Amino acid sequence: MEYVYLDNAATTPLDTEVVEKMLPFLTDRFGNADSPHALGRKAMTAVDNARDTVAACLGAKPSEIYFTSGGTEADNWAILGGARAKKKEGRNHVLVSVIEHHAALYAAKTLREEGFDVEYIPVNEGGRVEVSDVIARLKPTTALVCIMRVNNETGVVQPIEKIAPHVQKSGALFFVDGVQAAPHERINVREMGVDMLSVSSHKFHGPKGCGALYIRSGVKVEKLVGGGEQERGLRGGTLNVPAIVGFAAALNKTERLREETQRHIQRLQDLFLQGIAELDGVFINGEKEERTAAVLSLRVAGVDNATLLYKADLEGLCIAAGSACASASVKPSHVLLAMGMSEQAARETVRVSFGRQNTEEEVVLAAKIFVKTVKSLRKD
Ligand SMILES: *Cc1c(COP(=O)(O)O)cnc(C)c1O
Repeated sequence: MEYVYLDNAATTPLDTEVVEKMLPFLTDRFGNADSPHALGRKAMTAVDNARDTVAACLGAKPSEIYFTSGGTEADNWAILGGARAKKKEGRNHVLVSVIEHHAALYAAKTLREEGFDVEYIPVNEGGRVEVSDVIARLKPTTALVCIMRVNNETGVVQPIEKIAPHVQKSGALFFVDGVQAAPHERINVREMGVDMLSVSSHKFHGPKGCGALYIRSGVKVEKLVGGGEQERGLRGGTLNVPAIVGFAAALNKTERLREETQRHIQRLQDLFLQGIAELDGVFINGEKEERTAAVLSLRVAGVDNATLLYKADLEGLCIAAGSACASASVKPSHVLLAMGMSEQAARETVRVSFGRQNTEEEVVLAAKIFVKTVKSLRKD
């Protein structure tokens, strides 16, 4: 074993069964899905099947699934496209939670530059959006509300079902970033009551660079990527057939293994926490809130996260400080600051995230490395 990979919230390894399903489309079946000839038709049939699978896994209709280049594009599209379409009804107000992924925060910033009135919804100290904080901010002019289901840094689950009826009543669009939720809970867009929801394939053992946006039928969204008539004219670009096939296979397998995976990952989290129990001054951020077992946000008092990451890496343990996108930057996490943590406490926080491929032995070893590394850093 060269290293133990506990950074599954950043990305997950491709499942070998998924690779098998993709291979024909990377070789013999290379056709452009828009070509009317036999090779093209074969590709389109594969895309249609993939769309049916993704729709079934999310509780949507196939015609409500739009393939994208991943979670970032889906988030950008939902927020920009949704708000711009609603502006035509005279709605100019946008609500975004402070703990969103940078993909969503970037889109919100873009809307502000376009003249939208963008307002941020706070979180409590556990990292959860309070329903009352959404209700208090909804206006007759609200165009769009954006709140993620599972936070990528803390694993805290947001009360989407409780918020949805209020957003619906206001006439605004409700967009949910479901990227970290899809790997760890069964999603049903109708039961959740959302208008749009994004998912990303590489977070559940599918290929990178592929994802989808669910857009409820009847909801008007402006296109973001134009220039082709693909995806019912709403998202131009030659379809990435191998990735789409892999994405659907990965989501389907995730669904099939759902309960088994949940039990396994809970066990891994328990083992890790047992393994590091001898350390003092380690706190779970968002501990009191409902969280997915796959993501642990740990504050290690007195230890700088960048140093801990570096030293753990030397010992063969891959973990993260905050999210992957921010891990190379020196800025403390916006999510942890929004929870009322000090800059110092945010800089003492690391993220350990589990995947179904991780074994109990790996996690026991990871905990040992973690303990050893923290002890050595506290001595320095
Ligand atoms: C990873 C992630 C994204 C971005 O998805 P990509 O497919 O990597 O672009 C968006 N939102 C959340 C919550 C994520 O964890």
